[in-house]
Order: sequence, then structure tokens, then C-alpha cells
Amino acid sequence: MSGRYYAGVDLGGTKILVLVADAEGVTLGSQRVPTLATEGPEAVIGRIAGALKAAAADAGVALDQIATGGVSAPGPIDVGAGEITEPPNLPGWHDVPLARLLRERTGVPFTLENDANCACVGEHRLGAGRGFRHLLYVTISTGIGGGIIVDDRLYAGASGAAGEVGHIGVARKGPSCGAGHVGCLEAFASGTAIAARARELIGEGGLPRTARLAEHNPPLSAETVFMASQQGEAEAYGIIREAGHYLGMGLASIVNAFNPQAIVLSGGLTNMGDALLGPALETARARSFAQSYADVRIVEGELGERAAALGAIVVARSRQAEADAAPHATGAFPGSR
Ligand SMILES: [Zn+2]
Repeated sequence: MSGRYYAGVDLGGTKILVLVADAEGVTLGSQRVPTLATEGPEAVIGRIAGALKAAAADAGVALDQIATGGVSAPGPIDVGAGEITEPPNLPGWHDVPLARLLRERTGVPFTLENDANCACVGEHRLGAGRGFRHLLYVTISTGIGGGIIVDDRLYAGASGAAGEVGHIGVARKGPSCGAGHVGCLEAFASGTAIAARARELIGEGGLPRTARLAEHNPPLSAETVFMASQQGEAEAYGIIREAGHYLGMGLASIVNAFNPQAIVLSGGLTNMGDALLGPALETARARSFAQSYADVRIVEGELGERAAALGAIVVARSRQAEADAAPHATGAFPGSR
């Protein structure tokens, strides 16, 4: 346990990002490889181990100088057991003890946490959320996920499943989310939702420009709709604006229920800027308690695609510190306790 360096792994459905960082959270080496999840856990774990070796070499660090590592993985996860249970984004994976298998392959002790929580912790300790004790993290991409920081600590809930802000109800009828519930925020304001709504309107003969763009560059995605809206297609802009208003309903629910100091927004859809976030903030303000809205800073994430891997390191380090019951034994990120 004499290592002064840390490893962060962001295991995603399509790609894996491995970072080696120092005690201040500065990235010294990194490596990106495709996940190819259908090849099964064995092959993927081999790729993570290979990427870790490459990232460490890149950083000029030997593997035995790495004190601990964290893995950010798609949920659901059994955090205590270090197991990925049945992630929809990793088809064919069931109850994979990823933390133990990675330790066996690399010699580095690893812990596991779900991706949205990792990114939340990353932004809180090292990114746009620094200095806020009560914070919500919301990521808007193909789905909508999130994390909750209360009193500077990740709030996990009864079984580690807290933070699923994409499943705040915003309608009683309408489309379903990835989990099959009708009316979830995710079913109205995610990238998947925007693309689905566009397909629906194209089926009715609408959105000619979006349809043409999708034909040239398939598949039709939220980005296609955004591109068409930027090229002047009013109907496409209307879809994004509508999604923004639903996002605002979700944000207002968060503001009213948690009275946070900050909400950090992240994920690919924030690239739409005012087209999405303008109506979102307008609705959030209209539906929030005035004092709570005045209290909250709504900011964009700073760490981009490194948020989850860096957050996984923060999580791993705080668990190691708790296990050692000697917090002084490890260095600390600025702002960590
Ligand atoms: Zn849902």
C-alpha cells in the first residue's frame, strides 16, 4: 500500500477509458480501448488490464506504485460485493465480480461504483461542483442519470440505487423510459426520446430536413434533430424546446425536493446549449420555490469524458481510507475530507 498513484477505469457500453492519476487528481497517463462487450467479461477484463498497463507506462508509473483503483461501470451494481449484476449496456454479463477479477489480473485493489455516481463525485471533488456541499448531478445523453451529494458525501440510498433522476415522473401518459415506466423524464428529454419523437413526426410526413440529414448520415439521433434545427427547421427546434421544458420540470423537482446549492449538468445533450437549456431553465424557474431557485447554481460539468474515471478514483480512495480507518494514511484531493 505504499503507492502514491491511482487508477480510474470508466467501463462504458462502447468504450473503456483508463486513467492513472496522482494524489492531486492530475491525470498522468490515459488509454482508451473499445469495450466489445459481446466478447464477454473475460475478454473485456483483459482489455482493461492491458489498457491499465499502457496508461501506467504512459505515466511512467509501475503497477505496484498504484495504491488503489476505482471502476465506474453501468448499473445495476452490487457495490459491497464489487459485482456488476445485470447491466443493460453490457449484454450477456451476469453477476461478474469485476473488482476481484481485475485485482487478480493487475495486482491493484479495485472498487466498483455506478457510472453516474462516479461522474457526480468527480465533478463534486475535482470539477464544476467544487465547494458545494449539497449538489445534484444530472447527465443527459442517450438516457438521463444522476447522483446526489449531501453534506459533501455521495448519497447512495437504502440499496445504492439513489440518484435516478431520469425516472422522475413528468407525465401520466406518453412514452416509456428504458425501464418500462410510462412518463419518466428520460422518456421525454433524453437523446433517445428526442430521436424517437422525430421518427414519429417523420412517419407523419414532417421534419423533411431532419429526415434528409438522417438519410445521409444514419442513424437518426438527437444530434441529427439539433443539426436540422440549426439549419432552420422550426419543427426540429420545437422538439428540442419541448424536451427542454420537460427537463425543466425534472430540474424543478430536484430543486424543490433537495434545495441543493448546485446542479451540475453534463452529457452530450448539453452541447445543444440554449436550444435545450434555455427552455429548461425557464420552466425550472417557473416551477421552483423562489428561495430554492435563488439558492441553486445550475452549471455545466467541467471534466467531460474524464468525470467518471476521476470520480471512480475519488470513490476508491475514500473507501480505502475508511477501510484503513486512518484517513491520514492516504493523501487527499483538494476539498476531500
Ligand atoms: Zn423510468
